Amino acid sequence: MDLMPALDREKCNGCGLCVRVCHCNAFVMIGNLVAVVETDFCGWCTHCEAICPMGAISCPFEIVIEER
Ligand code: SF4
Ligand code: SF4
Repeated sequence: MDLMPALDREKCNGCGLCVRVCHCNAFVMIGNLVAVVETDFCGWCTHCEAICPMGAISCPFEIVIEER
């Protein structure tokens, strides 16, 4: 899937918060660092980006609500 959060593993401190907050299991811990798993189930909630204390996650999308 193209629109997955981008992860900078250089900044990651291994706290695991993103793993816990993501309801789509898009993150897994590998040793002391986290990795983004290829998934089609990202809900684009941006909670992972918001909770990361190291600024290691960035979501390359924004939700736009269109009025009709
Ligand atoms: S929340 Fe940030 S610092 Fe913590 S494991 Fe996830 S990417 Fe790493
Ligand atoms: S945007 Fe939401 S659903 Fe997608 S990876 Fe982050 S926490 Fe998980």
